[in-house]
Order: sequence, then structure tokens, then C-alpha cells
Amino acid sequence: MSDTIFHKIIRREIPATIVYEDEQVIGFKDIAPQAPVHVLFVPKVDIATLNDVQPSQAETIGRLHIAAADYAKRQGFAEDGYRVVMNCNGDGGQTVFQVHLHLLAGAPLGRFGT
Ligand code: C5P
Repeated sequence: MSDTIFHKIIRREIPATIVYEDEQVIGFKDIAPQAPVHVLFVPKVDIATLNDVQPSQAETIGRLHIAAADYAKRQGFAEDGYRVVMNCNGDGGQTVFQVHLHLLAGAPLGRFGT
């Protein structure tokens, strides 16, 4: 397995506030939240960026989204809404090279800008 900080969280080598886990996905609170609720959903299989996702991994990527939606619904954000974001490489703002989905919720979120 690769060795990003997220792999260390998956292996419980560094602490994180884990709020979701199943066989394929882990979800934990972002240490630098950009919204009142900011949770990262990470696949347990190695995938560095969205560019590296293989067709055979489509279910894994789908599960990230379903896990985020389930969490948002359980926390009561389904009706008001929320945002999911996946950054890719430098211009996309990716800093940890293990694919992850950001879930942002709990306040009206601004439009995207540059
Ligand atoms: O999409 P990007 O790669 O920039 O997102 C990485 C995210 O991981 C950041 O929002 C950062 O705050 C978060 N992070 C974390 N726990 C760490 C290291 C980074 O939640 N130990």
C-alpha cells in the first residue's frame, strides 16, 4: 500500500476522527474544516488521483459518493443540501495523493471561483 497520510489513518497509525467505515471506504473529519461539517471519504484501495481510476474501480468511486450522501442524510443535511468535491492534481488543489471526496455541509456554500 502507498504511504500517504490517509493510508496511515486507514491503518490507524495516526489519529483521526473517524465517522464512517465499511469494507471499502473510510470517512473522517478534515483537520482544517472549510465548512461547519467537512468530512473526507477515502477508498481503502490505492488510487492516487481521479486520473488513475480504472473502469474496474467504478463501484469504489460510487461507494465514496453513497457513503457521503448517507452521512449527510443521517446528519440532517439532505434537504438543505451539501457539496461533494474531489480535487485532482496541482491546479485542482489536490495535496494528498490518495483519492478522496470532500463532503461540505452545514451552511450555505459560496459559488466556485478562481
Ligand atoms: O483535496 P486535498 O488533497 O487538498 O485535501 C486534503 C485534505 O486533507 C485537506 O482538506 C486537509 O485539511 C486534510 N487533511 C486531514 N488530515 C490530515 C492531513 C490533511 O484532514 N492529517
